[in-house]
Amino acid sequence: MSDISENIKMYRDLLPEETTLVAVSKTKPIEDVLEAYHTGQRIFGENKIQEMASKWEALPKDIEWHMIGHVQRNKVKYMAPFVHLIHAVDSLKLLKEIDKQATKHDRTIQCLLQIKIAKEDSKFGLSIEDATILLTSEMLQELENIKIVGLMGMATFTDNEAQIISEFKILKDSFDILKKNHPYLTTLSMGMSGDFKLAIAEGSTMVRIGSSIFGARNYN
Ligand SMILES: *Cc1c(COP(=O)(O)O)cnc(C)c1O
Repeated sequence: MSDISENIKMYRDLLPEETTLVAVSKTKPIEDVLEAYHTGQRIFGENKIQEMASKWEALPKDIEWHMIGHVQRNKVKYMAPFVHLIHAVDSLKLLKEIDKQATKHDRTIQCLLQIKIAKEDSKFGLSIEDATILLTSEMLQELENIKIVGLMGMATFTDNEAQIISEFKILKDSFDILKKNHPYLTTLSMGMSGDFKLAIAEGSTMVRIGSSIFGARNYN
């Protein structure tokens, strides 16, 4: 058996049954995605819209494609025909564009709001206050072809486990608070190769795992 299928099987054993595994295939060739597919994996994550679109064209159509990277509004149209879940939505403007493009294809596109939990400046995302305002805005009610189903966050890239845990706790607490008024929020996307165990312990329902399934990425 190849490493990729062994890794997929290992994660299936490791993760609680109700936790969704998103296999992050960015930079990896079609053959690698197919190997995971033939092991039964159907959910894949990419962070570049064009790369995801070309993989979608080349690969079996029962794959559920997740956009996990930052989204530029002018590129939403390229993924609107097929994308299943967009993890990193951080503005009403972007939601409007997703809704507009989804409407053209007579589809509903699911979205997660990205919450900024990391201390690093480079990480995108909404504050919890802004997410609260967004979820209660009247404008949102008019967007009929999008569905916000949860939150996503990325912890600081650090060896300091206490810091990672505290950031995940902030996200989980925010999720629980928002859920009280918005019970349709059911997905909490947090955890990657390096921190998924901590994320699971803090209540993640969806992990995004790349390098420890497919190996280190090659950006050339
Ligand atoms: C690349 C990426 C991942 C996967 O990272 P690994 O450390 O390789 O598991 C998860 N989430 C996001 C948003 C990413 O860009």
